[in-house]
Amino acid sequence: MTDFGGALKNRSLHPDFVLGIIGVPFDEKSSFIRGAAGGPAAIRRVSTGKTYNADTELEVDLAEETVLVDLGDVDTSGDVDKSFAEIEKTVAGVVERGAIPIILGGDHSITYPAVRGMASRFKRLDMLHLDAHPDMYEELYGDRLSHACPLARILEDGLVERQVQVGQRSFTPEQREMAQKYGVKTIEAWNLGDDLILEFKNPLYISLDLDVFDPAFAPGVSHHEPGGLTPRQVFNLIHRLRATIVGFDLVELNPVRDVSDITAALAFKLLKEIAGRAIKPEPAE
Ligand code: MN
Ligand code: MN
Repeated sequence: MTDFGGALKNRSLHPDFVLGIIGVPFDEKSSFIRGAAGGPAAIRRVSTGKTYNADTELEVDLAEETVLVDLGDVDTSGDVDKSFAEIEKTVAGVVERGAIPIILGGDHSITYPAVRGMASRFKRLDMLHLDAHPDMYEELYGDRLSHACPLARILEDGLVERQVQVGQRSFTPEQREMAQKYGVKTIEAWNLGDDLILEFKNPLYISLDLDVFDPAFAPGVSHHEPGGLTPRQVFNLIHRLRATIVGFDLVELNPVRDVSDITAALAFKLLKEIAGRAIKPEPAE
């Protein structure tokens, strides 16, 4: 079992944890191929302290400066409604005690119940969505809860005040309309420079679909969309955020498609770097 680069604390000894990892082994809403349910286990497996340390690039020591625990997996053995209710309840439980949930997917459909859980505490929430896809289909193949639809549900329900999405390269006219209707700021992959600074006034939730990266950097995803971001671009974007991060998810890691755990290792590094920014935020002006 992992120790998340030596940063992991024993949950029973630390009821007052700051960062709580929640695994969501769920891929029933994947439209193409399954496998993302293995995401949480893959990240836990690769992130051993024998390979990685607990220090972030911005010199935050996650072993010394915070309390990171693993809350285990959400029960996804029931039907979809029950699994979504469990996700929402688990995330709400973490934020209501003042901690920061780190949600490991699972396919992207889980972000809808996760944000509902965030909304139990945060009446005003901003969201940064990194993804090759806008995920704003009204429905896909007749399914409104497909992993291609979570942003549509979140926007319709008014769960976030300001929505920014970065890295898209697969827009459809329908989804452009949806983005426009809800005033979603979009920075498509072709238009992302190296020095973007994003500022959010409200508490920020980050949802990161690993297919935002070019498939060359992250082959372990179900949908390979060429022309994507580099890890360096995304780390720099996260480091330069002016925001208070109150929760985040890393979704769509599909270990069945991964090569030498490249994508799982990237997911773990993202976990470290985003967690580091969450506990040492650079607040909005
Ligand atoms: Mn997605
Ligand atoms: Mn995607």
